Amino acid sequence: MAKEIQPVIIMPEGTQRSTGKTAQGNNIMAAKLVAETVRTTLGPKGMDKMIVDSFGDVTVTNDGVTILEEMKIEHPAAKMVVEVAKTQEAEVGDGTTTAVIIAGELLSQAEQLLEKNIHSTVIIKGYRLATAQCLRKLEEISQPIAAKDDQLLKKIAMTAMTGKGAEAAKEILAAIAVKAVKRVGEDGNFNKDHIKIEKKSGASVDHTELVEGVVLEKEAVHPSMPQEVDNAKIALLDCAIEIKNTEIDAKIQITDPGQMQAFLDQEEQMLLKLVDTVTASGANVVFCQKGIDDVAQHYLAKRGIYAARRVRQSDMEALARATGGTIVTNLQDLTQSDLGKAGKVKELKMGNDELTYVMGCKNPKAVTIVVRGGTDHIADEAKRALTDAIGDVAASLKSGAVVAGAGSTETELSRHIRKFAESLGGREQLAVEAFATSLEVVPRTLAENAGLDPIDVITSLKSAHDLKQTWAGIDVSSGRTMDAWKQGILEPVKIKTQALSSASEVAQMILRIDDVILSEKGAEAPAPDMGAMGM
Ligand code: ADP
Ligand code: MG
Repeated sequence: MAKEIQPVIIMPEGTQRSTGKTAQGNNIMAAKLVAETVRTTLGPKGMDKMIVDSFGDVTVTNDGVTILEEMKIEHPAAKMVVEVAKTQEAEVGDGTTTAVIIAGELLSQAEQLLEKNIHSTVIIKGYRLATAQCLRKLEEISQPIAAKDDQLLKKIAMTAMTGKGAEAAKEILAAIAVKAVKRVGEDGNFNKDHIKIEKKSGASVDHTELVEGVVLEKEAVHPSMPQEVDNAKIALLDCAIEIKNTEIDAKIQITDPGQMQAFLDQEEQMLLKLVDTVTASGANVVFCQKGIDDVAQHYLAKRGIYAARRVRQSDMEALARATGGTIVTNLQDLTQSDLGKAGKVKELKMGNDELTYVMGCKNPKAVTIVVRGGTDHIADEAKRALTDAIGDVAASLKSGAVVAGAGSTETELSRHIRKFAESLGGREQLAVEAFATSLEVVPRTLAENAGLDPIDVITSLKSAHDLKQTWAGIDVSSGRTMDAWKQGILEPVKIKTQALSSASEVAQMILRIDDVILSEKGAEAPAPDMGAMGM
């Protein structure tokens, strides 16, 4: 007796599901597409991209993570690859394109193995072994760097900016990046929030300057305040210089005009007292996170005090770090020892903006870089280049180890992994070899982007490395190999370790997926008649 077969529905209507090879294939394809998008931007000869968002705002950039963020990628596996770039950006600040390209290539190589019926678990295991080998090899070949070696640090900063819009000014920017990082991170705990980057169009990139202090987008609250204060003694207030409004409405019955005047006089007296407290501390500059009453402004101005109000909290913290002052939450507590010091505080007009420079701080623990550029877009890209340079210099100082670029490190690693593969047997060997081939994507892409023949370049790189030239890399103008270390193309080892481990991890993660279940919302597939109903 035949049983009647009933379909069993276990998921809500509208759920899309793909399994097995289809799921894997789709995910790999999506991840490869992400890598494909950014590959033309890699290296000194990489091109830029122009991205126009839904508001019509234009971004012109060479920066991997910026491109991927602006593209608003939706596919879930593709998003996982974008995440690699974001992590790279957060951890190092540079090497985002490299990380994504390696991830894409690892998956592309894996795809070929899958076609040969090698199971994904074998590939995953091979990739894991190869990654561990790479990290060990990186530790072995990387060279220590002394914190004092400014020349070397400058080269690292310049490598980070090669091929970006700001390249013409890279000498100046590199010097600024090194100085800024050393200023705020000498004690070893560098925090990139302690370098504020203010971007202002209207002058060429080489007018970018480092301010040993903080630049605020603020002007003095009162026009008759001094525009410049030397030997500034700065009060940092997280409280208003105002008379508190009562929470409840209070009515005052006034019967004759004298009473009214007395009431106003009293209010003025109270404000005057508040201003007296400020003066008594010896302050000649006030930065207030909250408001300053009009009458108080008037008295402050009369006493020659420079004051700005509604200063952002992040700026207040930067001011405290730069000037050595303490943020005071109750005006009555303000004493001389709370005051910060700066050589000069001055108001400056730049284009349409009023800025306050707090400069000449002694041993500041927060600094500001005012990045310039002929137009907003140029200044934006200069800022991104500078961020990469700062990240690289900081990472070099932190880990204290450096490798050379121009494809030299990747070629050396690839050679090492290939040898390691020989020591393994069976199918795992194929996976480890695939990993080695994947690493070559970096020199190959550098060559392609420079209009060189990638096969010629890889071949000559390989033979140079066979001759124990660890730092043999590509000279992108001639296509010949050169000693990248001697050419000063240097990068922190952290770029490579971070890029390799997260690229490898995401590749493994995507390979492990054999079932994709997209709920209706995830699939963003509205029911066909919804639109017509105007819902
Ligand atoms: P990422 O976002 O990965 O940092 P970049 O566009 O900054 O991408 O390119 C970085 C790559 O360019 C690195 O592999 C680096 O070694 C290489 N590179 C930088 N400067 C040079 C140079 N002068 N010659 C050859 N390669 C270079
Ligand atoms: Mg870079």
